[in-house]
Order: sequence, then C-alpha cells, then structure tokens
Amino acid sequence: MALQFTSTPSTARKAQAEREAVLADPGFGRHFTDHMVLIDWTVEDGWHDARVEPYGPFTVDPASAVLHYGQEIFEGLKAYRREDGSVWTFRPDQNAARMQRSAQRLALPQLPTEDFVESLRRLVEVDEQWVPAGGEDSLYLRPFMIANEVFLGVRAAQTVLFSVIASPAGPYFPAGVKPVSIWLSREYARAGKGGTGAAKCGGNYAASLLPTQEAFANGCAQVLFLDESGDANLEELGGMNVVLVKADGTLVTPRSESILDGITRNSLLELAQDMGHAVEHRPVTLDEWRDGVASGEIVESFACGTAAVITPIVAIKAKDEADAFGDPDAPAGEVTMALRTALTDIQHGRADDAHGWMTQL
Ligand code: PMP
Repeated sequence: MALQFTSTPSTARKAQAEREAVLADPGFGRHFTDHMVLIDWTVEDGWHDARVEPYGPFTVDPASAVLHYGQEIFEGLKAYRREDGSVWTFRPDQNAARMQRSAQRLALPQLPTEDFVESLRRLVEVDEQWVPAGGEDSLYLRPFMIANEVFLGVRAAQTVLFSVIASPAGPYFPAGVKPVSIWLSREYARAGKGGTGAAKCGGNYAASLLPTQEAFANGCAQVLFLDESGDANLEELGGMNVVLVKADGTLVTPRSESILDGITRNSLLELAQDMGHAVEHRPVTLDEWRDGVASGEIVESFACGTAAVITPIVAIKAKDEADAFGDPDAPAGEVTMALRTALTDIQHGRADDAHGWMTQL
C-alpha cells in the first residue's frame, strides 16, 4: 500500500527577495529549498512515517553505520518548469528503479517506485516557488538513503532513513556549451568486477575524488576510468557516461557490468535511433577510440548525465603523453549538439514527448 505523507510546513521559509536572488544565479548544489522529505525504515516495520519537514540538519548518532561503513545510496534528477507554469520531471520511474538496484547491492531496503515518485511530488508541491523558469534552469532533486542504525557491527543496518532534498540549478554552461578535455586515469580504477560500480553509492564517488583532483590540476573537467581487464576497455567518467560517434553516424557506448546505467545515455541512444542512427552498446577499448580519431572513423564524442545533459569531449589528456589525443580547441560536434537539443527540448516541454518520458509533478 502506498505510504501516506504528513506535512509540517516551515515557519521560517526564505524571504521572497532571498529566494529570487538565488534563482537569479543558482549555480549548482549550494542553495536548498525550504523543505525536505524524510521516510524511516526498520526491519520490523518496513517503510513508515513518510513526512515533509522544514529543511535543516537532522540528528545522526556518531555510531550510525553510514558514518563508518558507507552504507549509502543516492539519485539525481531534475524538475523543469514549463511556460504555462506546470512542473515536470524526466523518467522518475527510471531513477526509482535504479535506486532499487543500488539498494539491492548495498543491502539497503528498496523503496517502491510509487513512493519514490510521490516523495518528489510532495517536495515540489510545497517548494513549488523554488522551481526556476526559463532557459536551461531546473530544480535538482537529490533522493538519498543512509543506514542510520546505531551499531558498529559490520552487517546490513536494520534502521534506515530515506530523504529527498532539492536545489535550484542554473544552466551548466552559462556561456553556451563548452567542449572539454578529460583526464585518463590509468593509476586509479573506479570499480572492479563484482564491486559496486553499477550502484549509485557514495563510496564510488569517494574513490573518484583523488583522480578528479588530478584531472582538475591538469585542466580537465572529469576523469575517464578504464576497466582492469588488461584490454583497457572504456568504463565511464567520474559522473557521466561516454558515447563515441562514428563517421557513418553510428553511436558506440561501452557495455560493462561496473558502470552506472545512465538514464541520459539510454534516452539519447533512443532519440538517436529515432533520428536514424545505428547504436552499438559493447566493450570499447581506448585504442579503438584513439585509432578511430586518428583515422577519421570516430568524428565526435561526448559525456552525458543529468547535470550537464551532454558535454562534448574533444581531447584526452594523460600522464603518459602517448595516451593523449584529440584537439582541446575543437568545436562541439554536430550530432552531439543535435542530440542535446532534442533531449533538452523534451525535458523543458518545447518538443513532443513521443516516448512518454515526462511526468507532471
Ligand atoms: N555515471 C556516473 C558515475 C554518474 O554519477 C552519472 C550521474 N548520475 C552518470 C553516469 C549519468 O547518469 P544519469 O544520466 O542517469 O544522470
């Protein structure tokens, strides 16, 4: 049975002027709305006490499992305001399903899809004024789940908290889409066979921070991880999937057990097929990419994910010069930009939603 939510409205909402100042220049992930959703879970009672509360710090006991063993998962999706004022989100059922898969891997309880979607709806309803209008702005929604049982034993927690917070997000590229160089990490892996690479758990991101620092220090936006098969198969970036575009229009994206099943990537591949592109989802080696760029067989590549939608990749940098290729000053590719427009037009309600991907909140 669906959870029933209670609501405690904030008596200290941010003033209109303050909210408007944030919405005028939201940046990413720094400002939060007036409320949050909380849902408790225990082994005995399952999910219960679903509620909307004023946004603010909550109590986590120092002995909570999440603080010691990292039993935590999260999701990320956006709410978009249309010209008529209505607010919509993109494929929330897919985020709910992925969170259930992450939960399974991290030995956390699965929140049913209808409760997941309802939690987004309840938060957006109470904080509706925080959904930006126009352009590429959106309200970023961050569902997450932590093991808050007070116990230092190493086993799955018997007490868990699910929460959703929301943060207004400006355009990822305020000055227009900017192609990026990415940093190849041979020294550090993100995930291994049988590990947690396909789950959206905090630990994966913790492991990516050191190589990401290296990427930033070398003028790169993200890290590219390879698998450890010895064939140097491409995996993904620290927070985005990778797609290559061949001269004949075929899109190629890595298939791997240890990467995140990106909803943006999956949707772009469907749109590309609608547009007549062939799509290959298979292991791809770094050599294939480098040689393809050299021979002209691979003409574009891009990173994709919820935050930036599509980021053109124009060069690979690496510690070993022999690994580097591409032209950091190259412009964004045509296929890349056409796909970006097709997807953002659907998300912002400017194009027909033929696949039924949008859900009104
Ligand atoms: N890979 C990783 C590691 C990510 O963090 C993300 C962002 N969620 C993605 C890929 C892209 O996934 P999505 O398109 O669902 O945002």
